[in-house]
Amino acid sequence: MSNFAERKPHAVLTPFPIQSHINALLKVAKLLHLRGFHITFVNTEYNHKRLLKSKGPNAFDGFTDFTFVTIPDGLTPMEGDDGDVTQDIPSLCQSIVNNFHHFFDELLAKLHESATAGLIPPVTCLVSDCYMPFTVESAEQHVLPIVLFFPCSASFFLSTYHIPILFQNGVLPLKDESYLTNGYVDTEVDWIPGLKNFRLKDLPRFVRLTDPNDLMIRFITLVADRSHKASGIVFNTCNELESDVMNSLYSIFPVLYTIGPFASFLNQSPRNQLISMESNLWKEDTKCLEWLESMKPGSVVYVNFGSLAVMTLEQLLEFAWGLANSKKHFLWIIRPDLVVGGSVVLSSEFMNEISDRGLIASWCPQEKVLNHPSIGGFLTHCGWNSTTESICAGVPMLCWPFFADQPTNSRIICNEWEVGIEIDSNVKRDEVEKQVNELMVGEKGKEMRKRVTKMKNKVEEDTRPGGSSYINLDKVIKEVLLKHY
Ligand code: UDP
Repeated sequence: MSNFAERKPHAVLTPFPIQSHINALLKVAKLLHLRGFHITFVNTEYNHKRLLKSKGPNAFDGFTDFTFVTIPDGLTPMEGDDGDVTQDIPSLCQSIVNNFHHFFDELLAKLHESATAGLIPPVTCLVSDCYMPFTVESAEQHVLPIVLFFPCSASFFLSTYHIPILFQNGVLPLKDESYLTNGYVDTEVDWIPGLKNFRLKDLPRFVRLTDPNDLMIRFITLVADRSHKASGIVFNTCNELESDVMNSLYSIFPVLYTIGPFASFLNQSPRNQLISMESNLWKEDTKCLEWLESMKPGSVVYVNFGSLAVMTLEQLLEFAWGLANSKKHFLWIIRPDLVVGGSVVLSSEFMNEISDRGLIASWCPQEKVLNHPSIGGFLTHCGWNSTTESICAGVPMLCWPFFADQPTNSRIICNEWEVGIEIDSNVKRDEVEKQVNELMVGEKGKEMRKRVTKMKNKVEEDTRPGGSSYINLDKVIKEVLLKHY
């Protein structure tokens, strides 16, 4: 074995196999690589194929001390799909529970063979998405330290942790479907320390159910259980964003580290060949960046509902005409699968109306867009990555949360940080028009912009040398990942 290979600690990173989780864990991988780790990044075969299709067949070759490897996902290929869609999440969760442990152990055995042959350094630690709970068992078997990465907000982690209690004390499950609309979900949740002014409807969307044996509830209960067995847990958040929630979590999980937000951390990190490596599963349309160049500073609304949200055609049209009627410039990313049941064709009347001020594309390099000086506001579904990327770019938000952690994030954005305005789930064009104007040129918009700029500066402090997240990254490396190295 070469001296070089002997010296490096070797981390194997395993994201939950969907777009946003891959993006976030890849950022952790970059941060660890910058601190001297050899990295093996594990994607499913399905996603890696999509990555190569989007970025080019050799896009991930030739990086020093950074290798991508694949494992199967145990799912039957969807009939008739062209391999460019997000897989069904409950099916993925089921397969993760049933199959992934075996696939992952086979991979670890292969890595062990390569290390014995002196081709790579021996694996010294695992860093895994907490939604890949089998990795905790693998770590135990192979006597490796494991850091679990929680890719959503700490507030979401805290709320999901308490879901079993909601079932125990009879708040859930909902008695029947009518409870979704009879005001019950407005019930205040005032007994989770750290969460301020929360209502049932601000908790993870999947608690709004009537079946206590729901697959997703069982899955997140398993995740919470495994989290107790991790050597440490890291979050893409920081003191500035969620200190009360973190304080509450420290009493339940003693070995926690806030090491985010990654967008800010990486923006301030030394540039190397890896920094520009991206993991978009859809091909990016970069023409929108040229278009933004021709726009005035702060004049464009950026509209993007992330990689998973879907809406009805009626909802899409309400957004479309609300944006058009606002008379503001906008860049709208419409994924090919954004609308339930098929591709989107917008009428020629709409396209004519917006021809001088709207641009529609199918996927974009979001962080570059958000950081473009022309962007003045972000109409978002409030995924945690989008939320933190918007804060790191100093851009205020209009929030239309769709599912999972998004209602929780929207509550924090609008109610606690006051850097966003929520749009009613039953979206109407008049409200979109009004709130877009408020965001872009209204008094409330101005106040939100000031506040979010302050937050941007504070999170930059947290992620630069001497800041809490910067220090925490060094600590988790020393105290957990390299503890026995
Ligand atoms: N993203 C992107 N281009 C797009 C849409 C999204 O690069 O056109 C990235 C975005 O920067 C973020 C991730 O995809 O890192 C979306 O994650 P998020 O947690 O916001 O939402 P999700 O996709 O899980 O709903």
